[in-house]
Amino acid sequence: MARYTDAVCRQCRRIGEKLFLKGERCYTPRCAVERRKRPPGDHVPRRRRPSEWAIQLREKQKARFTYGVLEGQFRKYFDAAREKTGVTGDELLALLESRLDNVVYRLSFAESRKQGRQLVGHGHFFVNGRKVNIPSYQVKSGDVITWRKSNGSRPDFITELTQGIPKRPVPSWLSLDVASLTGHVVRGPDPAEVDTGINVRLIVEFYSK
Ligand code: SF4
Repeated sequence: MARYTDAVCRQCRRIGEKLFLKGERCYTPRCAVERRKRPPGDHVPRRRRPSEWAIQLREKQKARFTYGVLEGQFRKYFDAAREKTGVTGDELLALLESRLDNVVYRLSFAESRKQGRQLVGHGHFFVNGRKVNIPSYQVKSGDVITWRKSNGSRPDFITELTQGIPKRPVPSWLSLDVASLTGHVVRGPDPAEVDTGINVRLIVEFYSK
């Protein structure tokens, strides 16, 4: 399973804005975007006025980095979205939002999508009573996602979750029962609720060239 292994803060610095890839640290002054405004690299030229193509590319990269998807897989998502009957940009967002690693992040089972990917990969979740360890698994309406109890220690934030409220608002297409650490997929993702600030129109234009 191919994955990005370099420092994720470089991705935020490359895009020039916070993508919230690291959980708690992103909300502190230790955030790399707060400390270093320049893009990564030793001799980076000053940013010039970007071309239309560069703006579209940046938006596509922003979506890729946000959801932790490599180039080839992102292209497959786009092709799948184009095959669907709805608006391509909205369908693309829905496919990205339906990834299991994103869903466990949305349900506050993980502090970041990256951590969600790791927890899913380590087999910490059941989907409809069966262990699923594929981060790109597409959830669908009616699915039940459960934190898998084990004899080992569980992360502090999972213990905190059972005692209180989720760390972030749960979107209306999902529901969460904190007592049983169970999430339900009520319906398909609503693009209007996605808070990533990604302009999908620019991504569609990028791939339409
Ligand atoms: Fe991005 Fe978070 Fe790193 Fe800041 S701390 S640069 S928001 S990943």
